[in-house]
Amino acid sequence: MAFPSRLPIPEEVLRIARRLESAGFETWCVGGAVRDNLLGYESRDFDIATAATPAEIRKLFRRTIPVGLEHGTVAVLDRNSQPHEVTTFRRDVKTDGRHAVVEFGVSIEEDLARRDFTINAIAHHPLRYDWRDPFDGAADLAARTIRAVGDPTQRFREDYLRIMRALRFASRFGFRIEDLTWDAAKGNVVGLQYLSAERVREEWFKGIQGARKVSEFVEMWSRVGALRIWLEELARKGETRWLDYLAVVDRFEQPDPVLITAYLSDDAATTLTRLRCSNAEIVRGGMIAEFKGTMPDPGSAVEVRRWMSKAGSAVDDVLRIAVAEGRGEDLRAAVENVRIAGAPLEIHDLAVRGDDLVEMGIPQGPEVGNILRALLDKVIEEPARNTKPLLLGIAQELVTSGTVPSSPFPGDGGGDQA
Ligand code: ATP
Ligand code: MG
Repeated sequence: MAFPSRLPIPEEVLRIARRLESAGFETWCVGGAVRDNLLGYESRDFDIATAATPAEIRKLFRRTIPVGLEHGTVAVLDRNSQPHEVTTFRRDVKTDGRHAVVEFGVSIEEDLARRDFTINAIAHHPLRYDWRDPFDGAADLAARTIRAVGDPTQRFREDYLRIMRALRFASRFGFRIEDLTWDAAKGNVVGLQYLSAERVREEWFKGIQGARKVSEFVEMWSRVGALRIWLEELARKGETRWLDYLAVVDRFEQPDPVLITAYLSDDAATTLTRLRCSNAEIVRGGMIAEFKGTMPDPGSAVEVRRWMSKAGSAVDDVLRIAVAEGRGEDLRAAVENVRIAGAPLEIHDLAVRGDDLVEMGIPQGPEVGNILRALLDKVIEEPARNTKPLLLGIAQELVTSGTVPSSPFPGDGGGDQA
């Protein structure tokens, strides 16, 4: 691959580079944006690498944010308050598979040597339009290959996250992973256990979002052995079931990482908890797990309403799964009809409240809740019952006949009596 004479570097990046260079500090554009532009993808998110130390960078620019001073990274805010990452040329002097101790005062060539893959180790000089590509990343871009810079085993042992990064870039660009790099990834995969859950989650989620085909990305995690280590609840399906699941993940309308993880996992809450997802995400995953196997007959409006009432916030996620599985269109339409009709589905949609029942003479306590749930069940069966006089009448009947059900869920028995 021949280099173009220059890359479309945004004016704000050029201004930062000019100021650093005028102060005598050599400055290059590096990283993902250089790679993406060479591949023909638009990317304006250029990382800047410079000989200036973080202290010198902070002296030269009025507005900076110290994003990782110990690693030499400062964000410089431009006139529109947009941050640009400026990183001091650095060398890793000590690594333990997770962190690095770095040393400044090195050349751009040395800085490129500590980067992970050849396609990520190309530098472009934004003012002199010069190129540095000591590991022949251009050839690997042309051959569509992910290849570690230097000895892959050593590079993965310095930072095991690079194993996951290799999978992510391969599936994002449809590249193959060069043999030695792949063998080293597989051979060192147990090192993934030393990574923090946050970094693993970020790689897994970004990988799902960026993949050309989600199934290819997931399959690579499986083949390299990463699923077994971090996502074992996804790995324990038999071969046939696994292939069925993989076929479905490519048919989701959006590559939503929480939804896809919950879909593939045999125990979504455990998987998402291990990845230290937010509580909201863990609850969402747990609800998906609970309701993904419980779809009602779309032809029965009562069943659909009852199911929506129970599944609550999981309804749309379960529909997405059903649609990806090719059997959700009818149910989606049925759910839409219920929503358009504004049918009551929750206790607070009822035309009566607990206070109304207490006023009727029902003692405050669990019975009030039981009656409300029984009323909701009646209303789900027949939404037209949702008026205050009708519901108070039904409540009275339940009390006098002594048939107040104690089931915690409407529809779990008890609903058809009285
Ligand atoms: P993306 O488009 O996903 O941002 P990127 O290549 O820009 O891809 P970043 O994580 O933003 O990835 O990192 C910027 C650059 O820093 C990379 O291109 C690579 O040169 C280097 N880099 C990032 N993470 C590592 C790592 N774990 N080990 C070695 N080099 C790394
Ligand atoms: Mg980047």
